[in-house]
Amino acid sequence: MTSVRMTALVCAAGVGARMGLDRAKQYLRLGSRTMLEHTVHAIASVERVDDVVVVVSAEDAYVDEAAAHFPAKARVLKVGGATRAETVQNGIAAAGWPADAWVLVHDAARPCLRAAEVDHLIDEVLGDDAVAGGILALPMTDTVKRADERRRILETVPRKDLWRAATPQLFRAGILSEALSAAQAAGAEVTDEASAVEHLGLAVKVVSGRPTNLKVTHPGDERIAGLILGDAAVMPIRVGQGYDSHRLVEGRPLILGGIEIPFEKGLDGHSDADVLLHAVTDAVLGAAALGDIGRHFPPSDPKWKGADSGKLLEAVVRLAKEKGWSVVNADATLVCERPKIAPHAEKMRGNVARLLGVSPEVVNLKAKTNEKMDDVGREAGMMAHAVVLMCRM
Ligand code: MG
Repeated sequence: MTSVRMTALVCAAGVGARMGLDRAKQYLRLGSRTMLEHTVHAIASVERVDDVVVVVSAEDAYVDEAAAHFPAKARVLKVGGATRAETVQNGIAAAGWPADAWVLVHDAARPCLRAAEVDHLIDEVLGDDAVAGGILALPMTDTVKRADERRRILETVPRKDLWRAATPQLFRAGILSEALSAAQAAGAEVTDEASAVEHLGLAVKVVSGRPTNLKVTHPGDERIAGLILGDAAVMPIRVGQGYDSHRLVEGRPLILGGIEIPFEKGLDGHSDADVLLHAVTDAVLGAAALGDIGRHFPPSDPKWKGADSGKLLEAVVRLAKEKGWSVVNADATLVCERPKIAPHAEKMRGNVARLLGVSPEVVNLKAKTNEKMDDVGREAGMMAHAVVLMCRM
């Protein structure tokens, strides 16, 4: 095998109309980086690739910010065209690559590409003299139907020889330019580079890629991509912790977990002083990164005087839900010397579950004494701790 130049061209001139966004979808944040940054880093991580060109449209106002985080071997060319074929063609022309250089054309919307699958593609294409190029693809595993405009199935298409084309697609720069020009001249719609090369009558190989190399196309796809990338910031789970304490005083009812418990004293506070629900509420706020209970229900506001803490918890669960977060489970510990909590524990647990909008099986309540130590041990007050796990899918 003679030494060859291996380059990459990332197509990023699209506008992401299908995602319904105000900017092109390649600038969606997937955790710590934009999708485009992930994609460029992925293709640049292939050691044999020595030059990565990212083609964007001339009007792209966001690329400079993203490009500050590109690896050194990547550069931006603002020569994107009206169609994908034009974008690739312009990019190849502007990159200054020789006609025999190999070009890996890759979608900006495929951020989960692995270097190993690209290496596999390169080996398969460069090791096969009978082909002009090759593409990463997946054998069709679903049964395929053809339907009419009323969505009635017309036929089941045999899937045996069907492949789903992905990217990168690997061709020599010269052949690719020629193929794209010919396809454009013929008015053919080019949805991938291989189809243009096929029109020239040249052999193109399909090389099995990984199903993780998905194309972020529809809303919600970016979450799946985030999971595949394993980026902690897009993992759809969050944990929150809460703590609270209140003094015990005469002449107040004792409300714990939204349940009134017979006792000679009650907890003192601006609201009903339900120490357990306050800890759980702060844990929910913590998981959803929404601050704390004092910020949402300030004690200085007379509106919350004597407030039912159950209502506050419900409001906070609703707020978290608006941000997409739902409770997975909750675990709380109440620290109090007296009264005995065990006789009321099941009722409290059921109530906390109801307020959180979950089944009681995912709520756990524990009660401990403080072994007569410190103020809680001397019955001056009670403390509660809670953790809540939330998810977004
Ligand atoms: Mg409190």
